[in-house]
Amino acid sequence: MKTTFLAVIAFLSTSLRLTPDSAIAIAQKNEDKRNLPINQQIVEYTQSTEIKPSVISTSNTAKWWRYTKEIKPATRSGDDQLVLVNKEYQLPQSYAPSDLVLASNAGIRKGSGYYLRNILINDLRNLVNAAVADSIDLSIVSGYRSYNTQVATYNHWVSINGVDGADKISARPGHSQHQLGTAVDFSSSEVADGLGGSFYTTRAAAWLYANSWKYGFVISYPSGYESTTGYSYESWHYRYIGVANAQEMHGSGMILEVYLDSKN
Ligand SMILES: [Zn+2]
Repeated sequence: MKTTFLAVIAFLSTSLRLTPDSAIAIAQKNEDKRNLPINQQIVEYTQSTEIKPSVISTSNTAKWWRYTKEIKPATRSGDDQLVLVNKEYQLPQSYAPSDLVLASNAGIRKGSGYYLRNILINDLRNLVNAAVADSIDLSIVSGYRSYNTQVATYNHWVSINGVDGADKISARPGHSQHQLGTAVDFSSSEVADGLGGSFYTTRAAAWLYANSWKYGFVISYPSGYESTTGYSYESWHYRYIGVANAQEMHGSGMILEVYLDSKN
């Protein structure tokens, strides 16, 4: 039996500034919304009438969003471009990159509120310039998130959708690529800089999917690979692994999860 499941994440654009206390307050405020249909919860939460959540169909029995029984420490340092962080391998709570800079250094719109590692700024600038040359508008709507921010983010989603619902769209603390400082959530003026939702319908999303690897960025959770990645399709979430690695991955035809698994 098929069930329809709504993948969302517009919340994350605001999550960066959440303290645990404010997350709890939001969770309490939303308690009475738990019985609403999920798409209504999402619309209320994003407070956007323009961005609609994307929809994917998944098997009700596959349980592709589950974590492994045994959680292991990441086999590479968080600083390593090829570190595998997923539902089996976890970053230490203490890990934070030491070279975070404002994303706006790369000349990308809406970058002044988000931090990314300095190692990717030049390549992100090249990516943005290439997009502009193709008349594509890109903005950034999430970057580095600390372990503690991810605690609040994940707990919020659990309070709204329960553990199974949260695990499809939000990483548990230590399991988020955003803790690396090399994960970028993109958006575009085409969808009024909304995070998630209908970004997959934009020219910007198609452009990124086709070209980002040339600049070291690859999509982390592509469509149709939910049972491999453990996450719903996220058309907006890219990770920087360096130009040489991204070229090798692109040439191999592997998705990021499989490519990194081969390196860890
Ligand atoms: Zn993301």
